[in-house]
Amino acid sequence: VRRPLVAGNWKMNGLKASIGEIEAIARACDDSISARVDLLICPPATLVALAADSVGTSQLAIGGQDCHVKASGAHTGDVSAEMLADAGATMVIVGHSERRADHNESDAIVRAKAEAAWRSGLTAIVCVGESEAQRKAGEHLDVVGGQVTASIPDGATPTNLVVAYEPIWAIGTGLVPTPEDVAEVHSLVRAVLVERFGEAGQAMRILYGGSVKPDNAAALLGAANVDGALVGGASLKATDFLAIARAC
Ligand code: 13P
Repeated sequence: VRRPLVAGNWKMNGLKASIGEIEAIARACDDSISARVDLLICPPATLVALAADSVGTSQLAIGGQDCHVKASGAHTGDVSAEMLADAGATMVIVGHSERRADHNESDAIVRAKAEAAWRSGLTAIVCVGESEAQRKAGEHLDVVGGQVTASIPDGATPTNLVVAYEPIWAIGTGLVPTPEDVAEVHSLVRAVLVERFGEAGQAMRILYGGSVKPDNAAALLGAANVDGALVGGASLKATDFLAIARAC
């Protein structure tokens, strides 16, 4: 059985004053949630070290939101996987649709970033998901299947890889697919993983992301092959994030 993972992506939100939310999540994680569910918060890069230091030995994991392909060098403004690991991160999101769109990240780049994550001992959370136009054209399974194939490197294992399915039209919009629609895509992702990685593909976690809130979490997380959530807006408040984790 796959252990659920509920991950929070803070995106470009959060100042030092927000560390209290992460500390509250860490306390609840250790008190009641970590027995059944893994929790992760990915704050902005400026807060990764402070967050990791603040949670200390808590079961709450801290992650990055992106990493450069290279370990170091002349890449102004970028952050490497080695730097995230050094700051105390254990996971990193790669290929989020906002990075694919804002920074022209191709599947090949995302794949190289996942390899960079592994080089540093980080688990890579590889994001995939179709646009509204692709969904309307009925292309979502082809698009997501293609992204999974091209964005995940050889050598993926249930420990070093998590896949997150985030339909772009559901991100930050309040629109959510039905649990049946989610299950359709997740079962396709599962099939692609098993085809390529055999039994290991059965043990890899596939998260759903896109407008997950406390009131819809149970239904979305109850769908087949949904092994947790990647939460944006609702991860900024400890109470909302913990309510989602408890619904898992
Ligand atoms: P929202 O939960 O705000 O829709 O964001 C989802 C997301 O993009 C998480 O990575």
